[in-house]
Amino acid sequence: MPFQAPPGTEDVLPERVPLWLRVEEAVRRVFGAYGYEEVRAPVFEYTQLFHKSTGEVTDIVEKEMYTFGDAEESFSLRPELTPSIARILVEHSLFAKRNFWKLFYIGAAFRKERPQKGRLRQFHQLGVEAVGSADPALDAETILMFQHLLRDLGVTRYEARINSIGCPECRPAYRELLRKAIEPEIARYCENCRRRLGRNVFRILDCKACVALTEKLPPVIEHTCAKCKEHLAAVEKALAGAPYKVDPRIVRGLDYYTRTVYEFRSDLLGAQDAIGGGGRYDTLIRDMGGPDVGAVGFAAGVERILLCLDAAGAKIDASRPDFYVVAVDGSCRPEAFRVANSLRGAGLAGDLDFEGRSLKAQFRTANKSGARTVLVVGPDEMARGKVKLKNMQDGTEREASLDEARAILKGGTT
Ligand code: AMP
Repeated sequence: MPFQAPPGTEDVLPERVPLWLRVEEAVRRVFGAYGYEEVRAPVFEYTQLFHKSTGEVTDIVEKEMYTFGDAEESFSLRPELTPSIARILVEHSLFAKRNFWKLFYIGAAFRKERPQKGRLRQFHQLGVEAVGSADPALDAETILMFQHLLRDLGVTRYEARINSIGCPECRPAYRELLRKAIEPEIARYCENCRRRLGRNVFRILDCKACVALTEKLPPVIEHTCAKCKEHLAAVEKALAGAPYKVDPRIVRGLDYYTRTVYEFRSDLLGAQDAIGGGGRYDTLIRDMGGPDVGAVGFAAGVERILLCLDAAGAKIDASRPDFYVVAVDGSCRPEAFRVANSLRGAGLAGDLDFEGRSLKAQFRTANKSGARTVLVVGPDEMARGKVKLKNMQDGTEREASLDEARAILKGGTT
């Protein structure tokens, strides 16, 4: 039995790579336009990093991490990238250089999940973290930038939902209110939620299985303090004109969020309908040993964005090579090889046959490749120190020296 890739992983075959590149290129261009700089982190970290930042009582940390190591050291493959970015900022004392950082990343993340459409064990996230400010305009900027990216990629069918989940000042009272509202009914909740009641009641609001029950609970947005309400109003003002709606049910699954949280969803995705999500995390950097500064960011799933592009029928035309070199017979192959390499050295793109195929078959491949010009290397041409150039658009032919051929191809005409 031949090997198969582990469940929940995806191979990206050459025909799909142009789509990936398009997303990566758009991320770098769009985020760059807003002043975000790329940062790269290792794919594994000390397990404790995630316990401390993502949160002990989160699905991710409780049961979804790939953890390895020995008695002395425990490492985990990163289930998300925000903890690494926070660590990088603190470890490299970046705040000694500047108080405010706008960073973005693209990279693999790993979660031990039951694979299904749109839910993988190895997936890729693109995301941003704006660290060093509590300005609500920054929350709005990340949302607008996410929308800009999706627009740029041609993803239009999605909804942006935002909410406020309060701050360390108003959340404890709401948590108590929630606990009191849930407790009498707890027997009707799922097993996970029963466990969460004593440990992190907030998480119950996030449970898909208990929506019918949680729908009736008092929404957090109505129990936030005046400062949190003011913050949300300012975010909304900065978002004026952008498509979004306030959804009091968005709470996000991670521990570090404060105030603004948001999620982008698309009905093109099926059950796993989140394209991405994020929010403000004003206490994380301090908790990780850094300064007491506000921060906001989001992460989106690259595979989910690609699913949206597939649903919209997005196709990327493969780029056409400049040339294909055919050898008339075996004796001409070394010269064909030399010609092709000389042209590549001059910055042109093209190929030649390595399978010992007939002249006719070489022409077929040349045609299929979409090459603009075919260079024919035959004994007669070689005797004259020339090659034959065939323009594949109009079928015209001419003879030229290699130097002339190079100039002609560089000029784009045959
Ligand atoms: P989260 O922080 O868990 O909301 O993740 C942010 C985004 O990453 C989600 O909205 C998804 O687009 C993507 N994502 C999270 N988990 C997975 C997964 N297991 N497979 C594929 N994409 C995922």
